[in-house]
Amino acid sequence: MSIKEIDLHSALKTYFGFSKFKGLQEDVIKSLVAGHNTFVIMPTGGGKSLCYQLPALIKDGTAIIVSPLIALMKNQVDAIRAVSQNDGVAHVLNSSLNKTEVKQVKDDITNGITKLLYVAPESLTKEEYVDFLRSVTISFMAVDEAHCISEWGHDFRPEYRNLKHIIKRIGDNIPIIGLTATATPKVQEDILKSLDITDANTFKASFNRPNLYYEVRPKTKSVDSDIIRFVKQNQGKSGIVYCLSRKRVEELAQVLQVNGVKAVPYHAGLDAKTRVKHQDMFLMEDVDVVVATIAFGMGIDKPDIRFVVHTSLPGSMEAFYQEIGRAGRDDHAADTILLYGLDDLVKRRRMVEQGAGDDGHKFRENKRLDALLAYCEASGCRKKALLSYFGEETDKCGNCDNCIDPPELFDGTVEAQILLSAITRTGEYFGRVHVVDVILGSSTDKVRKRNHDKLPIFGKGQEHSKEFWMALIRQLFASGDLYIDLVRHGALRITESGRKILSGEKTFRCKKIISPKSKKQKT
Ligand code: ADP
Ligand code: MG
Ligand code: ZN
Repeated sequence: MSIKEIDLHSALKTYFGFSKFKGLQEDVIKSLVAGHNTFVIMPTGGGKSLCYQLPALIKDGTAIIVSPLIALMKNQVDAIRAVSQNDGVAHVLNSSLNKTEVKQVKDDITNGITKLLYVAPESLTKEEYVDFLRSVTISFMAVDEAHCISEWGHDFRPEYRNLKHIIKRIGDNIPIIGLTATATPKVQEDILKSLDITDANTFKASFNRPNLYYEVRPKTKSVDSDIIRFVKQNQGKSGIVYCLSRKRVEELAQVLQVNGVKAVPYHAGLDAKTRVKHQDMFLMEDVDVVVATIAFGMGIDKPDIRFVVHTSLPGSMEAFYQEIGRAGRDDHAADTILLYGLDDLVKRRRMVEQGAGDDGHKFRENKRLDALLAYCEASGCRKKALLSYFGEETDKCGNCDNCIDPPELFDGTVEAQILLSAITRTGEYFGRVHVVDVILGSSTDKVRKRNHDKLPIFGKGQEHSKEFWMALIRQLFASGDLYIDLVRHGALRITESGRKILSGEKTFRCKKIISPKSKKQKT
């Protein structure tokens, strides 16, 4: 069967009501329809589903769609059934079906009625299903959220590992399409290898969002007034303020309300009714700001969100990209502000350590956190740092804090040595507060009790402020010269490369400590 371009466009109109393909959709669809293995990397909201839904509808046989997100599968099935006015056209196959329902699904597939069969990866491992699927015509297999197959991804699922073998068993020559929104070069390679589609036609959309402004601010004691000031500067505009904990969400929503901002809280601890109400208030613009945990945002399609503020460090670059990606979908200017401090970093490291997974998993999670830290402490263009993580090269954006007002760099070797030797002299046993007390010559109880006021390094850093030393510690974390030892309750420890600074084998270029006020011109 040959499918002409004109057919693709009319199918787009008939089934989806759209008059134009978005981005690379048409090329992807042509590749898949022609029977090639195909690999798609597009940011969230890029329109990946249509890349397999449309081919499934026009090709002979049934397409199998593997996806880990059961709720989203159900939405897609309902939508396709509605436009086709045919309940048999799409089915979900999972463990919740009873015998009669399974029979209905099988009959519809056998009779050529079903074009899309959604399955969770774990259901695909059932012998009974594999045997059945071998006996019918399969048009292709789509693996959505394909990064789940990679241990280096942010959402690894062991069930995805077996997919290749199962697909081979269902049929040897079934074209495969893999789709993901978060592919670093490492994950991309993993996906292609694991699905055995290294020959795939690869389509990668740009992750560049030209209308976004990027800024990172160190958290200060007056973090709340910093946030209030920013939100009030944007009065009347829609924005999301992300917090790490439910408690903090409640707190900050109240602080904003008291300060005359129309804000509502949103987190998984609120009952479903309240959550829906608050979400609707935001969508209907009865309120301007949602203060939320990451529970908020999935499937939110509000185009005119003008800012996204993170009040603490996100979990990874992937999560960060996804969360700021909710801003400025209408292509008008939107701001992204990330506030972070060392306490966030300690918290995140602890979450990794105490989280599930083996040592390898924790190692990779920590690596992914390192990338985010490097973004936070970057002295060059933020967008360059962000996109290079996703394997994309760009010019300086001219629209981030560092491009607008490049940080001054100075030789901070001496200061780094003071800090590092205070850490060494106190046995690499203490957290940042104590170490900085020692450098500043603060005679606290803890300092006196440990006799650290007798150390030669005591008070050797008095010409700089506490903020300076904290900022220097952050930079030394980002450059990999320091790390946090969680076994020693968050003690600062020196890495191999940090020791080279101490011994004078290596110099340390340091960013001038900046004021926490916004660098963006707001006149
Ligand atoms: P992804 O899976 O890449 O995150 P989706 O497939 O969920 O993205 O699509 C995101 C949105 O884009 C959906 O609301 C979808 O209806 C819309 N969309 C997809 N293709 C088109 C198109 N060609 N024209 C207009 N809107 C589209
Ligand atoms: Mg999707
Ligand atoms: Zn820039």
